[in-house]
Amino acid sequence: MRILVISDIHANYSAFEAVLAHCEGEWDFVWCLGDVVGYGPDPNECVDRLKALPQLSLAGNHDWAALNRLDVRTFNPDARRAVEWTQETLTAENTRWLEALPVTFVIGEYTLVHASPREPIWEYILEPSIAALNFPHFETPYCFVGHTHQPVIYTIANDSGDAASALPHYNEPHKLNGQRQIINPGSIGQPRDQNPDAAYGILDMTSGIFEHRRIPYNIKAVQRRMLDLNMPDRLITRLEHGL
Ligand code: ZN
Repeated sequence: MRILVISDIHANYSAFEAVLAHCEGEWDFVWCLGDVVGYGPDPNECVDRLKALPQLSLAGNHDWAALNRLDVRTFNPDARRAVEWTQETLTAENTRWLEALPVTFVIGEYTLVHASPREPIWEYILEPSIAALNFPHFETPYCFVGHTHQPVIYTIANDSGDAASALPHYNEPHKLNGQRQIINPGSIGQPRDQNPDAAYGILDMTSGIFEHRRIPYNIKAVQRRMLDLNMPDRLITRLEHGL
């Protein structure tokens, strides 16, 4: 079984389509680690496309914000405007679909969450010390997370309990060899590692091989749609910088 591992589409349909076209025929099932909506101009298009695929999807903080499950006063003003627009724009059917998403899922050797194993909606695993604190909070060898929009692999040292981080080597097989890891495939719709290309991963569950990927997409087209919708400038420009 080959899995397309994706996260943080953030209502960016152009990026989502580019990813699906790039890996067409290479996977059997999709794991989506949350934040399908929020920030971008195409929430319904992204939910419609995702839910028509064979997939398992989790809830992220922006999905919950769109459902009014979070106090949006904790969001910055630009994110808050995007949340309010998303709430008004989502169809009732797609809102119901988002409402049904789980926050964690365990399948075979893999735990799936949006943010972190100990705080599945909120916590940002941005450094090894935070990753190390999370390894005791899941039981499988591997955990996939999104939320930071930064592709990375954290590995725990069995003796010391310290974690180390490694940036991915794109398009190269990464063998899952039994050493426990927290893996972030990166974000499709709003990368924040100073690389604007959409990020995703392919997992071959049979051989235990994961591969990080990047693919450019038509950022200008998304920015034009956001401009037409009067979305905040900062959200529009950050796409081309990967910030
Ligand atoms: Zn996100």
